[in-house]
Amino acid sequence: MTFVVTANCKHCRFTDCVAVCPVECFHGDEEMLYIDPEECIDCGACVPECPVEAIYDEAQLPSDQKEWLKINAERSKVLPVIAEQVEPLPTAEKRKQELGF
Ligand code: SF4
Ligand code: SF4
Repeated sequence: MTFVVTANCKHCRFTDCVAVCPVECFHGDEEMLYIDPEECIDCGACVPECPVEAIYDEAQLPSDQKEWLKINAERSKVLPVIAEQVEPLPTAEKRKQELGF
């Protein structure tokens, strides 16, 4: 099992999730983060930290977000680890409001 970052993270990248993750399983590109399913220890600590509710337990992924399981597995393999909290993207607050948070 693993946890999965979904579309709400796009253009946001607050990285509060990274700050609480006990292992280095978050990887990122210029838009968002992805969880490496082989590194994630399923602790669930990141879920309540995400201000836009982008992270799901694999078993609770909404049906319209299932594609993100594969995307996280693939993208995390080729992107650098994000091991420390970084500045949110300049679009983060606007995106958060648009998402209704
Ligand atoms: S806290 Fe949420 S929005 Fe921010 S980087 Fe993590 S998953 Fe993405
Ligand atoms: S569930 Fe735990 S180990 Fe997996 S990404 Fe979230 S904080 Fe990290």
